[in-house]
Amino acid sequence: MGFFGFLFGREPAGTSDKSSASMPSAAGGRPMTRARLIFLSKFNAARILNSDSFNYLETDLGEAPSRVIAQFVSADLIEPASLADKVAHFFSASQLKELLRSHALPVSGTKAVAVEKLLQADAAGMATLVANVTAYICTDKGHVIVDQFKASEIARYQVAEQLTLAKLRAGDIPGAVDAAAAYGKESVGHNPIAIVLSREDNLRLTKLIFHCRPKLLKGLTTGDWEIAHVASAMTFLFGSRSAKPWLPATFGVNGNLDPDVAIRMIWFAAKTLWDLDRFREVGVRTVRVSGCGSASCPQCQAISGKKFPIAAAVELPYEHCTCELGCRCLYVLGDFKFSG
Ligand SMILES: [Zn+2]
Repeated sequence: MGFFGFLFGREPAGTSDKSSASMPSAAGGRPMTRARLIFLSKFNAARILNSDSFNYLETDLGEAPSRVIAQFVSADLIEPASLADKVAHFFSASQLKELLRSHALPVSGTKAVAVEKLLQADAAGMATLVANVTAYICTDKGHVIVDQFKASEIARYQVAEQLTLAKLRAGDIPGAVDAAAAYGKESVGHNPIAIVLSREDNLRLTKLIFHCRPKLLKGLTTGDWEIAHVASAMTFLFGSRSAKPWLPATFGVNGNLDPDVAIRMIWFAAKTLWDLDRFREVGVRTVRVSGCGSASCPQCQAISGKKFPIAAAVELPYEHCTCELGCRCLYVLGDFKFSG
């Protein structure tokens, strides 16, 4: 018995009173919480379901995802996906090619074209292949709610981003950490790094970011450093891979270093100082540099394995690193001595 059996073998929770379903409380007469809206967004394109799909969302949803799906169906927010959608989402590109070959059809074109050719040639056969596949997609009504939600999420992010940015620029690090954390707390499934660590650790790391001016980054003016520190703190607080949203287009380091790499090196410098502090706290006396072997540049390879007293550890990121991806050397424990 698959997902269908589970889903339809019992009464869906809540009622399916569509007439009284105002937008925000459409599904099963329940309020559309943020978690439910995020869940509904996952059906913006057709989604294949397994018996344990989305179980990781159960805590946020407050009940089994399969029950919420039943409520969404009752409220006309999602519907079973079309045969074409099922075929397109169930088979990989290479499996589709294999199917085209087995039907003596030309293997060319996009995935959508492949699905179209297969359905034209053998709709019944394709239907049999995906007969046990359960997939749902938003109805028009569901799409409207998802679109509204996405727009409101973007707006919410922009408010938090601008507030955090303003606080950082004003030197209010605690205010910035709290603004980012308040945004993160409301986000389901997208948890910025800032709320993984304690407030105290976030504060400490953000302060360290503003303190670090790694020698690897050459030729920055005082103004450049201000911009770079703010951008680095933003990438940290919002868990962003790119710093570019917070950098002027003209921002350049060492002539050709990728700006994202440069900003990451500031965060990296802060993190390695943090590591050193923690090592010191537990009585570590020396550290060893651990590089990335042959993936490191010759300069990083030259310091890899070297041991330093913790008070005189070589600066990481390494000043002379020429790795395109930036320095990835780490400190590892050297000699250890229990205090007392
Ligand atoms: Zn290097």
